[in-house]
Amino acid sequence: VTPRSGLTLGMDLGGTRVKAGAVSPDGAIVARRVEAVGDVRDEEAIVARLAGLAAALDPGGAAPIGVAAAGVVDQREGTLRQSPNFPSWRDFALAARLAAATGRRVTLENDANAVIFGEVIAGAGRGERCVFGYTLGTGVGGAIVLDGELWRGSRGMAGELGHVTVVRGPDARPCGCGNRGCLEQYAGAVGLRATLAGSGRPLADLAGDPDAPARLARLAEQGDERALAIYADLGVHLGVAAAAMVHALDVTTIILAGGIAYAAGLFVPAMEAEIRARTFVSMSEGLSVRAGTLGEDAGIVGAAMAASSGDATLHREG
Ligand SMILES: [Zn+2]
Repeated sequence: VTPRSGLTLGMDLGGTRVKAGAVSPDGAIVARRVEAVGDVRDEEAIVARLAGLAAALDPGGAAPIGVAAAGVVDQREGTLRQSPNFPSWRDFALAARLAAATGRRVTLENDANAVIFGEVIAGAGRGERCVFGYTLGTGVGGAIVLDGELWRGSRGMAGELGHVTVVRGPDARPCGCGNRGCLEQYAGAVGLRATLAGSGRPLADLAGDPDAPARLARLAEQGDERALAIYADLGVHLGVAAAAMVHALDVTTIILAGGIAYAAGLFVPAMEAEIRARTFVSMSEGLSVRAGTLGEDAGIVGAAMAASSGDATLHREG
């Protein structure tokens, strides 16, 4: 009898490292490993590292694996169509290759989906059935959970609110997607930097600082009015796009995850006010906006839980 039965392995594949954990059915991480990826971009070398992590976390076992990765994920095929972290990869059948290398069942999930699903299973959204979540990192991602299950949409792209237009007019910032005024250009670290760069000194001096969001948050917490106004603006932009999600999906809960969510206290009040101003009272009443509680573990937990949930496509060896 193995005490490790029932575990699923969750792996959060980032551009510089893989965070991995053995996750129990209730979403608790019972063992974890982190492995550097460095500048390795070779597909087989990455698969070998993931396989090594599986062997280390579950030696001799057969726990299934859920992998989360940034980019365009075809969850049904287990294919990473393209990824900002691995720009040379195209339509890489990561799930099938890892299944062949390990003999385990493998699923692949978009990283924002994994993070928000992890929060719904074991974090800030525990017990909630209808949730929208933002992931606020370098850019802005999002995910939708309906009736307790991830809603991926027809191409796996559902919930990507970073490219919803929130600013119009000639001054709207251009976006890498080809549009202008996208939410991602105003929220997330890239958006905050652009705002800082246009703010005049001394705030403009922060724009190039790798730690700019945290330094701006410290200024705001000390009562700096311009820093407070920048975070309030960020909340307004997030609220404009989230209000559309409230109307479209009638969610009960909005979760904020990712590196900027630690400063949620600085922008949630403005975000909530914007949502209230733009939605029916019956929909915004009782709506809860919460920061995630799992931090960097959310992707591990969500990747594992998405793999073990009923609707996941599982890739088996051969
Ligand atoms: Zn865009």
